[in-house]
Amino acid sequence: MNTLNNNTDFLLSIENLTVSFDGFKAVDDLNLYVDENEIHVIIGPNGAGKTTVLDLICGRTRSTDGSIKFRNKELTSMREHEIVREGVGRKFQNPSIYEDLTVFENLELSFPRGRSVWGALTFQRDQDVKIRVHEIAEMVFLNELLDKQAALLSHGQKQWLEIGMLLIQDPELLMLDEPVAGMSVSERKQTAKLLNEITKGRSVMVVEHDMKFVEDIAHRVTVLHQGKILSEGSMAKVQADPNVIDVYLGH
Ligand code: ADP
Ligand code: MG
Repeated sequence: MNTLNNNTDFLLSIENLTVSFDGFKAVDDLNLYVDENEIHVIIGPNGAGKTTVLDLICGRTRSTDGSIKFRNKELTSMREHEIVREGVGRKFQNPSIYEDLTVFENLELSFPRGRSVWGALTFQRDQDVKIRVHEIAEMVFLNELLDKQAALLSHGQKQWLEIGMLLIQDPELLMLDEPVAGMSVSERKQTAKLLNEITKGRSVMVVEHDMKFVEDIAHRVTVLHQGKILSEGSMAKVQADPNVIDVYLGH
């Protein structure tokens, strides 16, 4: 195992990462790096280990070996909420929003709690929250629907709401697992626009199967297969890679 502990300029630096489930290596000696302001997309066949990589980064799954450094801080020994506090936000495949609450209330609830809340400043805080909720709602195309009950949103709008709930926490790294699954073509286009917009000042890791969508957003693509990197680089490069065509794109 590589035991170099040099600091890196990468926002996220994954080295020799392995997780073994009863002897089966879902992620196998993986090295993966994410730059500041980069949209990094992970593609690959089902069971390749894509979701597991995100689970390892956000602390939901514990690694067997290796290192995950975020701003040169080791994440593998941290707990999920500590990793969130470091600035890593994660969206799961199924949106977890409060269906009974309005769009506004969902966003408001996700606003990070102030470090110290003293009475006299409560009004100012309320105003700040309101302004921020409106800004985020605009970004995720829900500014006209702030009073709508979340249960009544379309599937795509629910996905956007959840992205908004993460954005309001202003993470430096945002991870999205299959964000356009089940979306219409026009919703996919809007989501691509949204992701291109929100990378200003943050990095995004996306797992996705929709190649048109990947083409619209990816700065860099990593192709995973059996827990290892099959190919990496620009979309054009990995699309032309015979190994990738063979195990993934050819189907
Ligand atoms: P992908 O997201 O690329 O489709 P996953 O990361 O979900 O793949 O899964 C990779 C492999 O690891 C699969 O074979 C899956 O069954 C296995 N796996 C994932 N999580 C666990 C777990 N908690 N326990 C056992 N096996 C798991
Ligand atoms: Mg998955």
